[in-house]
Amino acid sequence: MIDFRSDTVTRPSDEMRDAARDAAVGDDVYADDPTVNELEARAADLAGFEDALYVPSGTMGNQIAIRTHTDRGQELLCDEQAHVYKWELGGIPQLSQVQPRILDCGDRCVPTPEQVREGYVEEDLHRPGTGLLCLENTHNSRGGVAVPKADIDEAAAAAHELDVPVHLDGARFLNACVALDTDPAAMTEHVDSVMFCLSKGLGAPVGSVLAGSEEFIERARRTRKLFGGAMRQAGMIAAPGLRALENVDRLAEDHANAARLAAGLNDIEGLSAPEPDTNIVMVDSEAAGLTGEELSAACKERDVKFHAFGEYTCRLCTHLDVDEGDVAEGLDRIESVVAEA
Ligand SMILES: *Cc1c(COP(=O)(O)O)cnc(C)c1O
Repeated sequence: MIDFRSDTVTRPSDEMRDAARDAAVGDDVYADDPTVNELEARAADLAGFEDALYVPSGTMGNQIAIRTHTDRGQELLCDEQAHVYKWELGGIPQLSQVQPRILDCGDRCVPTPEQVREGYVEEDLHRPGTGLLCLENTHNSRGGVAVPKADIDEAAAAAHELDVPVHLDGARFLNACVALDTDPAAMTEHVDSVMFCLSKGLGAPVGSVLAGSEEFIERARRTRKLFGGAMRQAGMIAAPGLRALENVDRLAEDHANAARLAAGLNDIEGLSAPEPDTNIVMVDSEAAGLTGEELSAACKERDVKFHAFGEYTCRLCTHLDVDEGDVAEGLDRIESVVAEA
């Protein structure tokens, strides 16, 4: 089976399993787990922040950040295609009692300074005030777009001029850094916090990290407890996470495989796929007369899995567990499905 559904489907390597078994552990609620402490320190360093917090999932990391940055009743600015808004079960109002104000950021994926200023709401007797700007890099729903540091910096500067803090949903921000050849600490230079996933392209079985200032992480630690995400001998899962941090540079292989995949899809009559920035390929199947659902269902019959992402769009992801040969084999099978349609 060739699984392009997501870069979350990878199985932990033997090294990661060994690391889990051999991990030094303690009770992390007492900050006694040396492996978690090491992971948090290394992740903070990599992301260019004073401190970091290990969390069970990217969703929890984002929602902890939102809750920690905002006050009840405020507004949050984000793109209408943002993961925090679209794919986290309405967590913004449910968990933080914050109202999202959505912007159409288009291909740019992050708001222009003008959009930030226009979306900003000043607190008064009738208006709640803007408490946070959320950015996303790479931008998942817009096709794994790697947003350049300059665009992140500009949006963050506009927010800071209005005294609004900035959180970066960087589930795949290391993919962006590798694709753009930008140092991760530089990418986050002007944001106040970043969340990134160890469990996606980096290949850990579980876990994400939220990084920020010491003061922010201290408060976020309480929010994590509130959300039920404080864990005990979490070194068992943090140890593979430490191993995952060694996989940053190899994300370039996933990007090369995604480029091959997109080029091959373009060569199939009826399909078109824009050149991907990173490891996410969006393919349009309208000219083949197949909806996204039809294409993905037919390919699943041939043991090639991926998701429909819109009426005539599917999303394919490359990752540690698909190599160049799988891409070629996957393309052959997709081609035969389209030819028979
Ligand atoms: C995957 C993803 C998340 C959530 O991560 P989980 O670990 O699946 O909860 C958040 N933001 C973006 C952009 C993502 O792609």
